[in-house]
Amino acid sequence: MRSEARVAVIGGGVVGASVLYHLAKAGWTDVVLIERDELTSGSTWHAAGGMHTLNGDPNVAKLQEYTIRLYREIEQASGQSCSVHITGGVNLAGTPERMDFLKVACARARYLGLDMEIISVDEAARLFPLMDKQYFVGALYNPLEGHVDPAGVTQAYAKAARDLGAEVYRFTRVTALDHRADGSWDVRTDKGDLHAEHVVNAAGLWAREVGRFVGLELPVLAMEHQYLVTGEMPEVVASAKEMLHVIDFEGEIYMRQEGRGMLIGTYEKHGVPWSERDTPWDFTHELLAPDLDRIAGSLEVGFRHFPALERAGIKRIVNGPFTFAPDGNPLIGPIRGLRNYWVACAVMAGFSQGGGVGLTLANWMTGGDPGFDVWAMDVARFGDWATMAYTHAKVRENYSRRFRIRFPNEELPAARPMRMTPVYDRLQAQGAVFGASFGLEHALWFAPPGTPPHEDVTYRRSNAHGPVGAECRAVRTAVGLLEIATFSRYEISGPGAADWLDRMLANRMPREGRLTLAPMLNDQGRLIGDFTVANAGGSRYFVFGSGIAEQYHLRWFEAHLPEAGVAIRSLRDDLLGFAIAGPASREVLRKLTSMDVSPSAFPFLGFRRTHIGQQEAWVGRISFTGELGFEIWVATDAQRALYDALLDAGADLGLKHFGARALNSLRLEKSFGNWAREYRPVYTAAEAGLDRFVDLSKPEFIGRTAAVADREHGPLRRLVTLVIDAGDADAMGDEPVWHEDKVVGWVTSGGFGHCVNRSIALAYVPALLAAQADFEVEILGERRPAKRVAQPLYDPSGQRMRGS
Ligand SMILES: Cc1cc2nc3c(=O)[nH]c(=O)nc-3n(C[C@H](O)[C@H](O)[C@H](O)COP(=O)(O)OP(=O)(O)OC[C@H]3O[C@@H](n4cnc5c(N)ncnc54)[C@H](O)[C@@H]3O)c2cc1C
Repeated sequence: MRSEARVAVIGGGVVGASVLYHLAKAGWTDVVLIERDELTSGSTWHAAGGMHTLNGDPNVAKLQEYTIRLYREIEQASGQSCSVHITGGVNLAGTPERMDFLKVACARARYLGLDMEIISVDEAARLFPLMDKQYFVGALYNPLEGHVDPAGVTQAYAKAARDLGAEVYRFTRVTALDHRADGSWDVRTDKGDLHAEHVVNAAGLWAREVGRFVGLELPVLAMEHQYLVTGEMPEVVASAKEMLHVIDFEGEIYMRQEGRGMLIGTYEKHGVPWSERDTPWDFTHELLAPDLDRIAGSLEVGFRHFPALERAGIKRIVNGPFTFAPDGNPLIGPIRGLRNYWVACAVMAGFSQGGGVGLTLANWMTGGDPGFDVWAMDVARFGDWATMAYTHAKVRENYSRRFRIRFPNEELPAARPMRMTPVYDRLQAQGAVFGASFGLEHALWFAPPGTPPHEDVTYRRSNAHGPVGAECRAVRTAVGLLEIATFSRYEISGPGAADWLDRMLANRMPREGRLTLAPMLNDQGRLIGDFTVANAGGSRYFVFGSGIAEQYHLRWFEAHLPEAGVAIRSLRDDLLGFAIAGPASREVLRKLTSMDVSPSAFPFLGFRRTHIGQQEAWVGRISFTGELGFEIWVATDAQRALYDALLDAGADLGLKHFGARALNSLRLEKSFGNWAREYRPVYTAAEAGLDRFVDLSKPEFIGRTAAVADREHGPLRRLVTLVIDAGDADAMGDEPVWHEDKVVGWVTSGGFGHCVNRSIALAYVPALLAAQADFEVEILGERRPAKRVAQPLYDPSGQRMRGS
């Protein structure tokens, strides 16, 4: 084995091999792959090799398409067959709700450029004659589905990479990793050591162990998975064409042709984890004992829905383990605080996703940016709260729900409640219906007295619609109270803090006692954050952002810290707060503080240290609702007392609790964008309408050159506000936007504006069309007229928020 390499990829399953290929293809040919045994000796060798482009996240769906289209390329590059069978697939629905789900997936595919089609039961039966029509109501046809040979694919990646100069060491186990001061790694193996600038953990079933080499506990768990292969079936033999790939959601089974019979797999309702704490190093090319009883229920449904299967004997049963992250999507990217350590693991659909994962990671390593919107796969979407127990509960839940509908307003129950603020029980007593965000419980809305705190899951307006409307109206006419623990908050301090922030963020930093809104750009000028910055004086700043992006932002901040002069600290455990918003919010504040809160003394975007009731607090005059409003932050142990004081002071002013759903409605009425919806690392500030917060008069900040070019050329697309002629279902995000019979854009978020009585969506459309008035938004299979509005629907001048 050589002693030096630029990258050591650990693991020769389909994912490691794909990473190796993509690195070599990107020009990093001084790369090696280290595999404990033969290639494919983890999950890869016994996979069913099925592939498709369905994914709840559109960006992952697009990378799945890339993966499938890549097979021809690696076959040509390597001369190794992947046995690509693109059969097409039918996804069968047995209920109207499932049809809604398929219509949403089909519509989303349209703006991704994927060609899917909703078809009738008759059409589905023509394509897949084994089905009994009486059990189904319709289907989604996807031409880009099929299967490949898992070993062939892995060998093809490895061979193509080797042809570009990469090396593969088999039967070599990595036993430890030591970090050098310069950020590079000593890779210890049972065949000697290798020094590499970067390491990639693509260790699949052993990803946890390879994480533990460096003190990392990755949120990954393997589950047992079973499929069976039938004996020869006359219907299959007689078929002129290869049988399609099929998913029967009601039976929770997938199927495809295997030889002269069928392969049938299922995700059990009571899935069984494998090697819960440690993966044995001597597990190689092994299968687990099959347990047909566990899948008997699904098979019975399968036999009913596809009667020919019952007549076919079982030839072979495969039970093998493969890994999942808590939400079922891969974990990829660099690890915060561990320079040059990268992960590409928890890939549960290696043959749909392996190519996209390899491409993304290679882009990220060689160019500093993944090149796509990979938020749904970024390892930073989990924090240290994603413990082993959390992971186990969530992975089991996710596995058991693999083929269930996840409704847009559905909050899944496993591993909850986990993180709670001190007022959790008080909010519960007020009827709060909770959601979990970054592991933290937060109120979505409040059920009125006498009604159950429970939301019916649906694609349409739910039982929350009325109560959320009442919360919105209270904010617009009196005063609302919202817990804001889901915001992230950081303290940046030290003599270099101001200069550092000035370089990191695109806007000019506020003077003492002031707040400012500041986007953060990457070198390509794309949005990687949108923050509120407060200057607390004495070289101390508070930065507020989106809570779900805490690890993502800390990873970026810390990677850009100078050696000395700037300290950064998350205040997640130290500060908690509430927003009060509405015309009476100043009156609430006035009752609780000796500070002058008049508009002249405490203007919009002011930031003060004061006492609220008995609590020492930081107060900013800002609100995401578009009303006069204040955000109040206190020490964690003072939060309950602050809550009581606010309730007391607001009692005779009509104070009402509001939750995240109402906040969403209120901000849509103001056309305010949100992190992870309108603001993501694929959009520029100009596209997102944030260029007024990018101060090009500053001589230097990250992304400035790209921002200048963007302003000069003008953005390619623009964020617009649409008012939809909706029925009983509002847009929720990811719907295609049509113009003159063509799909031209997509919705980023939507909902009902209760105080303007309109159904609203924010959407990206090509800049050339952004001045057009008439669009359509496809909701649940229907194209609904949508009018662009040039101004926010509520208080376009901003007078209520700024002026009063
Ligand atoms: C029964 C079954 C059916 C499946 N069907 C499908 C399907 O139809 N479609 C689909 O897309 N996916 C399917 N999968 C999932 C698929 O198998 C996985 O997504 C994929 O194999 C994951 O690949 P990987 O490279 O991440 O991990 P693995 O295949 O586990 O590879 C990891 C490799 O790393 C090596 N390694 C680990 N630690 C070290 C170390 N310290 N030093 C050196 N080497 C090390 C291991 O030996 C192993 O070869 C199925 C899985 C199962 C179990």
